[in-house]
Amino acid sequence: MIFIILDTLKKRLILLNILIKFQFLHIIFLYKTINEGDYMNLKFFKKYISVIVMIITITNYQMFTTINVNATEKKIIYLTFDDGPAGKVTKDILDILKKNSVPATFFLIGDQIKGQEDLIKRMYAEGHSLGLHSMSHKKNRLYSSNESFLKEMLNAQEAINSIVGIKPTILRFPFGCNNNYYKISQSMVDLLHQNNLKIYDWNTDSGDGANPNASPSLFIKNSRSDKDCVLLLMHCAYMSKNSVKALPDIIKYYKDNGYEFKAIDENTPEEFHFMKK
Ligand SMILES: [Zn+2]
Repeated sequence: MIFIILDTLKKRLILLNILIKFQFLHIIFLYKTINEGDYMNLKFFKKYISVIVMIITITNYQMFTTINVNATEKKIIYLTFDDGPAGKVTKDILDILKKNSVPATFFLIGDQIKGQEDLIKRMYAEGHSLGLHSMSHKKNRLYSSNESFLKEMLNAQEAINSIVGIKPTILRFPFGCNNNYYKISQSMVDLLHQNNLKIYDWNTDSGDGANPNASPSLFIKNSRSDKDCVLLLMHCAYMSKNSVKALPDIIKYYKDNGYEFKAIDENTPEEFHFMKK
């Protein structure tokens, strides 16, 4: 829909541009036809000039509003960090987000929360979204049945609720909805939806999960996208030190490209796909 509107506006601008050029040609033509001392023609010419000025003003206004339409249809980046809370790495990530005044989303592992409650409180206080990423993060426990997966998520929800008094309803499957151990099914989606939970995979992968020790420059390169809506997968786990190093440049890239930074909430459209069998 947005594309259609922008396209129409573009065409209108092109037409108006042609119109202006035509009017200028006309002025030159008129000027040449005015004989010196021909008072009536000069009077007419002055009137004509004021009409032209008016048209130019209208055209400029149109251009201005079009630019504004473009500006309000900003592209969106969701920075997401999995596998926290995790001590200094998570703290450093929070510091960078704060310094850059951008929100993010943290998919938290319930079993890691004990003793790191302050990090959870800080995420919440600084406007980040808290999401569920199971209790154990263990494939064999999570993917043995739909019910065991749900139980892990609800337990993580309760663990977060006991600290900040909110029950997150957004979740991310450990290793993604479709991993080498498990493929998401309609029955799983139905069960999660019945429990008011929403599913968020990613559409851009920094690569810091598969190989946390790879160079920050690789994560920076992988993280660059020009999609209208980027859901970027990153990690704030204990081993994610190079993600901390990469983050400032990743934020800069999206700021330089005019993206709006948002945290996932219950109104964010879900992101997951069924694998073809
Ligand atoms: Zn994970």
